[in-house]
Amino acid sequence: MQPLSKQMQNLEAFRELISTPRNIVITTHFKPDADALGSSLGLAGYLKKKGHKVTVITPSDYPKFIAWMAGNEEVINYEDYRLRGKTNHAIAHADIIFCLDFSVLARIESMAEPVRQSKAIKVMIDHHTFPEDFAQFVYHDIKAAATAQLIFQLIELLGDKDLLDVEICECLYAGIMTDTGSFRHPSTTPAVHRIAADIMELGVNTNLIHRRIYDSSTMERMKFLGYVLSEKLVVLPQYRVAYFTVTAEELKRFNSQTGDTEGIVNYGLQIEGVVMSVIIVDRPEAVKMSFRSVEEFAVNQIASKHFSGGGHKNASGGKTTGIGLEATVEKLLSILPEYQESLLAVKS
Ligand code: 5GP
Ligand code: MN
Repeated sequence: MQPLSKQMQNLEAFRELISTPRNIVITTHFKPDADALGSSLGLAGYLKKKGHKVTVITPSDYPKFIAWMAGNEEVINYEDYRLRGKTNHAIAHADIIFCLDFSVLARIESMAEPVRQSKAIKVMIDHHTFPEDFAQFVYHDIKAAATAQLIFQLIELLGDKDLLDVEICECLYAGIMTDTGSFRHPSTTPAVHRIAADIMELGVNTNLIHRRIYDSSTMERMKFLGYVLSEKLVVLPQYRVAYFTVTAEELKRFNSQTGDTEGIVNYGLQIEGVVMSVIIVDRPEAVKMSFRSVEEFAVNQIASKHFSGGGHKNASGGKTTGIGLEATVEKLLSILPEYQESLLAVKS
């Protein structure tokens, strides 16, 4: 059963909560993307203007192409062991912990227990399916295009639009732009375009943000992309599925950095007739999978049923541990017959 989207019903209690200066921690999911980091730093900018002390802690590092946002220098990576004492102290003694762009604590990996055990009031703001019940305040809407959209709307609901500035809006725009696939996914509603228009009117150079994120590849990354597209793409027309595999050796050979495989999965969907595209990458911690689909074909069901993951209907992630890359591919191939009928039913 899919829970209905829960709007923040207790807005007045929330307004009261943030009406006096608080110690606030903001966190987001492991390997943050532009929406995770942009919603976190956008919210941080707003809360700082309201007089709060804000610490943004990410459970891991994130790609260089998003490391330009205002507040980026102050972000603490939980994987930095030298800061672990300070970080755990901040989590344990926070008044409020905001959990953005994820809705199950497992997605913050080793931060999950410290956050769960903290006496802080927890606020979850997110747009992923199947939220866990761990927060006292929830603003959850699976129809939202991005968590950054929810942050913008929350600031609007609180009557604080005048506090928005270029730095905050650059962060939020990055989240909305990337999670909508540059305003082309079906999540791109008139409301999303209106928010983007408001952000442009505030003076944000949206073209610059697009270039910082999408036009900042290294030569090595371009060669890696070329190699993966020419050598590693497999298309299964009988299922309308495309998939890529990337071995640990290939990651090393192309000196792959965090974020270098991001977006490659989308190329599979550019092939006529393809309904689902998957990239399978042999990472040290697990074999990681990214799923993308079109129309009603729901990849989050495949990710959660077979690959310990989840996400959105058309964009999900998952993993296997202990079986390796080849067996993961075999597992994917073995489940395809189960989905063949639905894959073939999608109009193109
Ligand atoms: P990506 O393929 O970019 O890693 O993930 C696509 C979408 O699925 C993102 O919104 C991401 O947050 C979500 N996602 C990725 N991995 C998982 C997972 O293990 N569990 C859940 N619930 N969502 C995931
Ligand atoms: Mn998001």
